[in-house]
Amino acid sequence: MSLLKVGNLGKSFGGVRAVDGISFTLAKGELLALIGPNGAGKSTTFNMVNGQLKADTGSIQLDGHELIGRAPRDIWRLGVGRTFQIAETFASLTVVENVQMALLSHDHKLFSFWKPAAAHRRQDALALLAQVGMHEQADRPCSELAYGDVKRVELAIAMANEPKLLLMDEPTAGMGPTERNALMALTKQLVIDRGLGVLFTEHSMDVVFAYADRIIVLARGRLIAQGKPAEIRDHPKVQEVYFGSGKTFEKEVAA
Ligand code: ADP
Ligand code: MG
Repeated sequence: MSLLKVGNLGKSFGGVRAVDGISFTLAKGELLALIGPNGAGKSTTFNMVNGQLKADTGSIQLDGHELIGRAPRDIWRLGVGRTFQIAETFASLTVVENVQMALLSHDHKLFSFWKPAAAHRRQDALALLAQVGMHEQADRPCSELAYGDVKRVELAIAMANEPKLLLMDEPTAGMGPTERNALMALTKQLVIDRGLGVLFTEHSMDVVFAYADRIIVLARGRLIAQGKPAEIRDHPKVQEVYFGSGKTFEKEVAA
């Protein structure tokens, strides 16, 4: 069974059909890329899945639960996570303290009557940090970390909630190629180790083709193609949308 099942999903803003009746599925343990030119409807799709925006049409089912009409917090409780930027107020806390805060928030969700002391969860926080390769920097303030390392901590924070589905809208924005690859390799490892489903957007086609298990392509709110990376790379409609006719991803990458 699919972890996520989206059917005929639609959203308009005034006269603009930002998302125009799209359908797709995402399996447990799958890294699914959502690509398309600017304004294609990617962020609108994400925000309907996480509950920030209410869909006009269609359905979004997670493990058989309908998400449309639920508040963002309920959707989070059902297991839809996303990466948040570490807020400035938390940057002065250490790396491990940030993860402990996230664990406490998760415990509160599960047992609102039982809030363990932060110290109790330090080992669990360290275990999560080990998974993202940040345990050695656990006691440093987040404000001292390199950008790519902050992103790793944000991933550990998202994992504290044990999501079934993780949404990542442009996770590698602002990163150089090396950091980008490191973050995506790490994400892929989490997908494999935890059977996590991930839906992500990404501008770098190199990254998309290297890491995605499957790709869906939006253009002007419509789903124009879906398939394995090799199928998408050679798909005439996709190449036309990105480059007009006669150009290919290979030429773009080489340029
Ligand atoms: P993408 O993330 O693929 O770049 P978006 O989902 O952000 O695309 O936007 C899809 C379309 O919807 C665009 O035409 C955009 O201008 C429009 N849009 C998105 N959000 C809003 C909004 N809150 N109000 C009005 N129009 C919006
Ligand atoms: Mg966007």
